[in-house]
Amino acid sequence: MAKIKLEREKCIGCGSCQALCPKYFELQEDGKSHVVGAVKQDVEELETEKIECAETVAEACPAQCIHIEK
Ligand code: SF4
Repeated sequence: MAKIKLEREKCIGCGSCQALCPKYFELQEDGKSHVVGAVKQDVEELETEKIECAETVAEACPAQCIHIEK
């Protein structure tokens, strides 16, 4: 199992994650990203078997607030 982590407080709402990986990321009304399927909180975590596009997004995020644990 791998884990996708998002530090919401660092997110600047650029939308790259949603554009590149809508399976796992969506922008919310507060202008910050949310990990689809995770509990909404300051630091969100989602365990998954397939990281897929989330790894690309973690590298592309300008705020470096997306982290992948394998
Ligand atoms: S790519 Fe990073 S900064 Fe941009 S919306 Fe997603 S989490 Fe926020």
